Amino acid sequence: MSKKYDYLIVGSGLFGAVFAFRARQAGQKVMVIDKRPQLGGNIYSENIAGVNVHKYGPHIFHTSNKKVWDFVTSLVEFNNFINMPLANYRGKLYNLPFNMNTFYALWGVTTPPVAAKKLPPPPPPPT
Ligand SMILES: Cc1cc2nc3c(=O)[nH]c(=O)nc-3n(C[C@H](O)[C@H](O)[C@H](O)COP(=O)(O)OP(=O)(O)OC[C@H]3O[C@@H](n4cnc5c(N)ncnc54)[C@H](O)[C@@H]3O)c2cc1C
Repeated sequence: MSKKYDYLIVGSGLFGAVFAFRARQAGQKVMVIDKRPQLGGNIYSENIAGVNVHKYGPHIFHTSNKKVWDFVTSLVEFNNFINMPLANYRGKLYNLPFNMNTFYALWGVTTPPVAAKKLPPPPPPPT
């Protein structure tokens, strides 16, 4: 009797979906099951009135690995989202993550050595 599938993949998140895709490319037969009604696991987005809404939490994809980037962009299109978080501290807005702009806005300092002097001392190493 011939087997129906080479792999049963439980979960269609990033891992399961990529594994299934690669296995299919390698000529394997795969079955993917998921307890949720859609594919993608935690990176699933729901299109609501033309807007991709992150159902399980916001996601930002970043990699410095060209092989990874070439792989994902061969499958999906990315939008031009730019992550620019701000912190509201005592009614003033500051850039996150901290950079010299933040330290200038906070303390009026313009060089890393002067900013470093403003920072609290590091905690003692664990004993
Ligand atoms: C709120 C949030 C924000 C995040 N932000 C980022 C980010 O900005 N950048 C980043 O790189 N990573 C981010 N991550 C991490 C990233 O989402 C995960 O690393 C990645 O999605 C994990 O993929 P996965 O395939 O391992 O698991 P999941 O995406 O969790 O997929 C697992 C799938 O398996 C299914 N499943 C589980 N158990 C069963 C079962 N018994 N039977 C059937 N199906 C089952 C689930 O329904 C789900 O669809 C974030 C995670 C969260 C939760």
